[in-house]
Amino acid sequence: MNQFQYVRPAQVPGATKAITNGANTQFLAGGTNLIDLMKMGVVAPEKLVDINNLPLKKIEGNAGGISIGALASNTEVAEHPLIKANYPLLALAINAGASPQLRNMATVGGNLMQRTRCPYFFDTAMPCNKRMPGSGCGALEGYNRMHALFGASDKCIAVNPSDMNVALTALDATVHVSGVKGKRAIKISDFHRLPGQHPELDNTLQKGELITSVDLPASPFNKNVHYLKVRDRTSYAFALVSAAVALNIENNTIQGARLAMGGVAHKPWRLTETEAFLKGKPVSLDVFKQAAQIAMQGAKAYEHNKFKLTLAPNTLLQALKTASGLKA
Ligand code: SF4
Repeated sequence: MNQFQYVRPAQVPGATKAITNGANTQFLAGGTNLIDLMKMGVVAPEKLVDINNLPLKKIEGNAGGISIGALASNTEVAEHPLIKANYPLLALAINAGASPQLRNMATVGGNLMQRTRCPYFFDTAMPCNKRMPGSGCGALEGYNRMHALFGASDKCIAVNPSDMNVALTALDATVHVSGVKGKRAIKISDFHRLPGQHPELDNTLQKGELITSVDLPASPFNKNVHYLKVRDRTSYAFALVSAAVALNIENNTIQGARLAMGGVAHKPWRLTETEAFLKGKPVSLDVFKQAAQIAMQGAKAYEHNKFKLTLAPNTLLQALKTASGLKA
């Protein structure tokens, strides 16, 4: 591992100032992703700004919903009574990720910043436009079983690996950030990027901006929810495909739907057209089958991930059935 400077400020302004003053500086929270990347030589920051002393751990209900501090651990969020009662989809998604030990260390802010698990990104002997812009994409003509179906580019076909991000996307989260130029709020749908010509950029944060909290609006989607993650083994594995489903059902009619998929794109993949299709429809197998097909419009597979063209709609269909309680 390369040598690096280490600082541990106690307040947000000190942290954002410390990071802006360094050419190759990164924030360190739980370290469950960044330290691995440093050990493997994928990233080599000259300075780490450890933010674990910042007062950003609170989880608080408010009139508009809930505010989750960026340093709240994944476990603290998933176990919080207000999250379990009002946002069970988020708790399900978080608990589908990683291991208990990792969830104890990983933070909400860090989870939002998680890097892809594309094997070529981790292998410093291979070309990867995300790790080294302009070097090429090893996965395009290589082994691309885990890769994207939607929104990819000729520069990168990687997927976002987070489960939490998929639920936050379905639940219309807002990410609050602070930087030397001030504070701003970013809709979760605008936070993560598609790769385009710049896959080295995972998100829309400006240099030096720090995630301070994530807000969720008050939600009627607290009863008929499900997070289904399909993976190669039953725990401690990243999703081949996942589906976050939240339905508001009254008298067997879908009043509203919030849907997103994971493991299929460079960002959590919100299914707004499928949501619009479901609104006002009865809960039925036929309706859900149609919804799953609509969700796949525009999908494009690569040599080794063609199975996802079947797996993805089946995952969504099963999640819709489980969330609604449909037995058929
Ligand atoms: Fe790198 Fe993206 Fe290609 Fe993977 S898919 S090798 S992360 S550029």
